[in-house]
Amino acid sequence: MKFNTTLLHGNAVNRYAYGATQPSVCQSSAFHYPSAEELEDVFQGRVPGHAYTRCSNPTVDALERRLAEVEGGLAAVACASGMAAVTTAILNLVCAGDEIVSSSALFGGTAEFLEDLERFGVKTHYVPKLTAESVKPLLNERTRLVFGEVISNPSLAVTDVRAVAEVAHAAGVPLVLDATTVTPWILRPIELGADIVIHSVSKYIAGSGNAISGVIIDSGNFKWDATKHRALAHSAKFGRFAFTAQLRNAIWKNLGGCIAPQNAYLAVNGLETLGLRMERICANAKALAESLDGLPGVTVTYPTLASHPDHELIARDFRGLGCGIVTLRLGSRERAFRFMNALRHVCLATNIGDVRTLVIAPEKTINAHSTPEQIAAAGVFPDTVRVSVGIEDAEDLIEDFRQAIAAANAADAADGKTE
Ligand SMILES: *Cc1c(COP(=O)(O)O)cnc(C)c1O
Repeated sequence: MKFNTTLLHGNAVNRYAYGATQPSVCQSSAFHYPSAEELEDVFQGRVPGHAYTRCSNPTVDALERRLAEVEGGLAAVACASGMAAVTTAILNLVCAGDEIVSSSALFGGTAEFLEDLERFGVKTHYVPKLTAESVKPLLNERTRLVFGEVISNPSLAVTDVRAVAEVAHAAGVPLVLDATTVTPWILRPIELGADIVIHSVSKYIAGSGNAISGVIIDSGNFKWDATKHRALAHSAKFGRFAFTAQLRNAIWKNLGGCIAPQNAYLAVNGLETLGLRMERICANAKALAESLDGLPGVTVTYPTLASHPDHELIARDFRGLGCGIVTLRLGSRERAFRFMNALRHVCLATNIGDVRTLVIAPEKTINAHSTPEQIAAAGVFPDTVRVSVGIEDAEDLIEDFRQAIAAANAADAADGKTE
């Protein structure tokens, strides 16, 4: 089965009660059993079953099975948000004294969390871009994971997953990747050697900007050594399932960042049309990027453009597809604001992966709590505008963006500036 068929008819699509085609929303906190013995059996994992929705729930289970299948993973653990997935996955692997090697081209919340970890004795070494050459010299006996985004939000740096996985594995550490911007429709990082894949499900998977949610997907391929990954010592006996077992039995369960059943239902719903939406979103984003590239008063970053340093990698590993984000620089913060305020059919809002096109200037919004160093390292500038492209008609988007750039240029001309 190919991608879209798997979404609708894959092994993970359960036979739901009453022949329902969608899982029902199981809005129950606890689950009761006829005897004390059976209740205890469920808690002990001796028989399958649900006990309490913070730990497992039938609607959430349906989402997790489907996401594990479409990413080609062994198991998935759904979380309350993308940030819950990022933080919980990392915390599952580190103890005080351990180190992380990460790209600095990161989503704002992730960059801030890695700084928070310093307070708990976990040090992160940053590379401007995740490559085999940049990562290798920073790996040492204290390194526990290599972290990055497959295509970074919003700087659009592209990771050579296979090459980075190879150097990480040679040093005995897993590659943990946030794949939010690519989605399994563009690239399945596990096929290229990634060990743990994270998504903010809030974005393209849920797809309509209506359910904050996240997921951690375990490939099951990493050979855990509990003398090195001390955080997994109690779960080493679960072998291929060690990482997921440690999440479920300890840090994920105890942090309490579970997804709400209603949001899991919305994410399952969204997932079914992921391929259809991504096809349209990527076609629109490419058309928009190409039509704006070279216009006076704007610089366009998009992975398939010949000017993008990684366009050959995109052709090789990403099926020649870019992603749903186009990043613009307008020359100054004032011009960026004029441009945004001149847009007619586009929402000024944060978020990516909505069906409608959204724009935001990230520097003092998404990155409001980041340090100037984090912002610069994330590839965010005062004049940066992130465009999350939606499923509107491309002609309307192109016309709107062109007239808004012209409006910013005209305002400059009226101010007597030459651009
Ligand atoms: C949005 C986003 C997150 C955080 O996800 P939330 O669901 O908002 O918590 C993490 N990583 C990337 C790349 C994102 O775009």
